[in-house]
Amino acid sequence: MSDLQSYEDYKALAEQIRLPSAAFINGAYQAGGGVNMDIINPATGDILTTIAMTNAETTDYATSKAREAFDQGQWSRCHPAERKEILIRLCKLMTRNRHELAVMESLDSGKPIQDCATIDLPEAINCIKWHAEAIDKIYDDVAPTGEDAMAMIIRQPIGVVGCVLPWNFPLLMMAWKIGPALAAGNSVMIKPAEETPLTALRMAELALEAGIPRGVFQVLPGDGLTTGQAMGLHPDIDMISFTGSTETGRHFLRYSAQSNLKKITLECGGKNPCLVLKDAEYINKVAEHIAMGAFWNMGQNCSAISRVIVDKSRADELRKALLFHIGQFHQGDPLDPKNRLGVLVSDTHFSKVKSFLDKAAKDKLPAICGSVNAKEKQITPTVFYDVDPAHILATDEVFGPVLCLILATDTDHAVQIANNTNYGLTASIFSASIGTALRSARVLKAGTVTVNCYGEGDITTPFGGWKESGFGGRDNGLAAHDQFTETKTIWVNLDDVNDEELINE
Ligand code: NAP
Ligand code: MG
Repeated sequence: MSDLQSYEDYKALAEQIRLPSAAFINGAYQAGGGVNMDIINPATGDILTTIAMTNAETTDYATSKAREAFDQGQWSRCHPAERKEILIRLCKLMTRNRHELAVMESLDSGKPIQDCATIDLPEAINCIKWHAEAIDKIYDDVAPTGEDAMAMIIRQPIGVVGCVLPWNFPLLMMAWKIGPALAAGNSVMIKPAEETPLTALRMAELALEAGIPRGVFQVLPGDGLTTGQAMGLHPDIDMISFTGSTETGRHFLRYSAQSNLKKITLECGGKNPCLVLKDAEYINKVAEHIAMGAFWNMGQNCSAISRVIVDKSRADELRKALLFHIGQFHQGDPLDPKNRLGVLVSDTHFSKVKSFLDKAAKDKLPAICGSVNAKEKQITPTVFYDVDPAHILATDEVFGPVLCLILATDTDHAVQIANNTNYGLTASIFSASIGTALRSARVLKAGTVTVNCYGEGDITTPFGGWKESGFGGRDNGLAAHDQFTETKTIWVNLDDVNDEELINE
């Protein structure tokens, strides 16, 4: 799948592409009834398309269509093998349309086409395929009762599931949710981030073409306070699967409490530590992993490395190696396949990241690289050296290409700094001693810990956060299927004592 096209081909495709301009409800594009919203290409500032956003009334209508489809059972009660076939057909359509989807994603979000084409698209396809292939191989349970009963614990789809998405991996985060949610038989309503609705809308069209019935996969572009809140408070939505900031995640818990106690799962932010211990081997390789972990997707990544906690004795060596690897990144037009770094997703987000850098400048935090071009709204990879772990740049999620190096005196000190945060999404450790690495991995408070690499695991491993990084479930792996199903116990009495025997007793 790493069939990158040329810069010229991508530019030509960007000119030709037909971009969606409406919500996708009950099997067709239709105006959302709300205000018109310009969808901006953050790399150029150009308007790509204008979409009539979904308002509360249309959200209500879409929910009724999702419920109708669920109750009617064409998807929710069809044979798992049939759902598998249809979802695999969707993957084939995604593969056939991969260049178009990759360009759409790049134009909409400012992500480099290299990432869209070689990471986001293949991973999204793989995710949907993996869950589709799993669904006719998952068995339910029989409880260890005595001989006088048989108790089955079966899993059933939850019903109408709302998926509220962030803008940093629009297509991939959607795949993480629709893969298991659709495989399990739910009706799904997607609310993409207002900045990046395009690939979700195109996917709804492909889903219909693949054979997913009307009303089962709907996309409601809209802003959080209108569409997101209407979904959160809706009495007939059974679950919200959310990815975004911790602050917004808290709103969804409140919406649930104020409405129908709908199930809520949250994948939220992070302030992910990377521990480089005294005995770390191959410091150049370590630096390459860190540069990737910190600056990939312009640092707009919930699992981005944002704190490198390095043993004092290795700090200078690591600093030099990091500068070398950061120098290898090309940054520029996201549609040029040679660029590894594009632009931040919006002017608003640029201002947010810049305000952190202004604070760092005011506090004279020593930077070893990085620059801000306010006119072009561009920020280059920025690294601060020997940062106080209590400084706001080392405590708060910046969500941009900004990294703090913090010095530690030994392994215990490094672990203590790493855990001193409200977040707990991912962590990484570099050490030559597998014993030291595993002992540290055990005490790090995070959902995923990687050893001698940066990463998030893969589709086979559950992903989600401890503490304020997550709530209620895990994406990926078979754990994701559990998120999108309810269990039901069916207890069958097998006691064969009959009426006559009872009377005679
Ligand atoms: P966000 O501001 O929390 O927005 C996420 C989604 O929630 C958007 O669709 C947004 O709508 C909606 N929303 C915002 N306010 C709302 C409200 N009051 N009620 C209902 N819905 C509301 O997050 P973001 O800025 O898009 O994404 C960045 C965050 O996502 C970071 O914190 C990052 O760490 C996190 N993230 C986590 C993971 C993970 O798996 N753990 C993955 C990716 C990102 P709008 O369209 O109006 O913004
Ligand atoms: Mg955009």
